Amino acid sequence: MPIQIGGMVPLTTIDYPDHLSCVLFCQGCAWRCHYCHNPELIAPVGSTPVAWDEVLAFLHKRQGLLQAVVFSGGEATLQPGLPDAMQQIRELGFKVGLHTAGIKPTALAKVLPLCDWIGFDVKAARGQVDGITQIIGSDAANWHSLQLLLASGVAYECRTTVHWNLLQPDDLHLLARQLQEQGVQRFVVQQARDGHTLTPNLGPQTQPAGLPELWHELGSMFEHFMLRS
Ligand code: SF4
Repeated sequence: MPIQIGGMVPLTTIDYPDHLSCVLFCQGCAWRCHYCHNPELIAPVGSTPVAWDEVLAFLHKRQGLLQAVVFSGGEATLQPGLPDAMQQIRELGFKVGLHTAGIKPTALAKVLPLCDWIGFDVKAARGQVDGITQIIGSDAANWHSLQLLLASGVAYECRTTVHWNLLQPDDLHLLARQLQEQGVQRFVVQQARDGHTLTPNLGPQTQPAGLPELWHELGSMFEHFMLRS
């Protein structure tokens, strides 16, 4: 089954660490995160599809120029065609990156051996994920997938998007402690953008007090911690 691509960024330096990469935005997602800033990618069929043959033709011309191809979303692992697509990318000589929230742990397990690096989206502390995604059961899926990722040995970064109207510093602190208990070593916090979000009227965000102290503490909990704006 061909993979559904809803958009492509031909060259980026920020989506796969230390590599020049191309990002493929896979169409479709089963969750409904309030702050989602790619709501046009949630539907299973998008308005601006990019044919897989077109993607392959582009990548053939970029061999030796690009180093990695990142499957992003939407949620790439929901696509049955993802393993084949990743295999084709590997055969072209590119490294394979994946941005995922681990919506379907069995599907993530299938592609872990094909990935060189994963940006894993941890939505919130255990028990709080469903409130972000608006989907019952997403908590268990998100955290089970994280365990699969950590057990796989694939290079990764865990990242959490914070919208201050949805999470408070105590929630983030609890999440950091839970990640630490799981053995996570690389954690990035990124602040949600106001404006183009799935749930309208979510912002503007009011920054809580005590953030410098929180960042300092989180920095001491992980081998690598970063605040990304
Ligand atoms: S932010 Fe949430 S709703 Fe949007 S693509 Fe990611 S998992 Fe799906």
